[in-house]
Amino acid sequence: MPTIAVLALQGCVERHRPHVEAAGARFLTAKTPADFEQADAFILPGGESTTMLKLIAAFDLEAPLARAFAAKPVWGICAGTILMAETVLNPPQRSFGVLPITVLRNGYGRQLDSAEGEVDGYAVSYIRAPVIDEVHADVETRATRNGKPVWIVAAPHMATTFHAELTLDFPSPMHRAFVDLVRAHYKP
Ligand code: GLN
Repeated sequence: MPTIAVLALQGCVERHRPHVEAAGARFLTAKTPADFEQADAFILPGGESTTMLKLIAAFDLEAPLARAFAAKPVWGICAGTILMAETVLNPPQRSFGVLPITVLRNGYGRQLDSAEGEVDGYAVSYIRAPVIDEVHADVETRATRNGKPVWIVAAPHMATTFHAELTLDFPSPMHRAFVDLVRAHYKP
């Protein structure tokens, strides 16, 4: 059974546990390089990407995370998508660059523009979400909103600009899809 670690520096972490377990994987919260070693894949949760970047720098995690992301599947959610993007605008910001996409932070506007949505018949939440403005080579778009991708896969990585973990119907189709992606890359 693969172990999926949620980066637990900041943001929405525990809500993933029932989804990950219902999708047939082990759930771990990860904060240290030793935790990263235990993980077969990562979820970069929603939260605040600027704060996450500050904590990553403060705890000296940038190099260990870059190594982990180069070797293992990663699912970025909202702020996590921003951390994974090759190019971040509005304003420009550092990122790990593991997904060939350009994102606009807070691309739908301010807090009041947060919204519920539905993807594959499943309720999801857009919370000060980024907009994926451009996708480059080898990116599969699984869902769109207003003509822009909101769920993409560039194997072994995946990103959603929405939160699926807040809906209490386990597992979400996105957790199931990520566990499938992880299984395809998992060598016990
Ligand atoms: N607006 C946040 C950011 O720029 C992302 C919000 C979220 O993750 N729900 O990091």
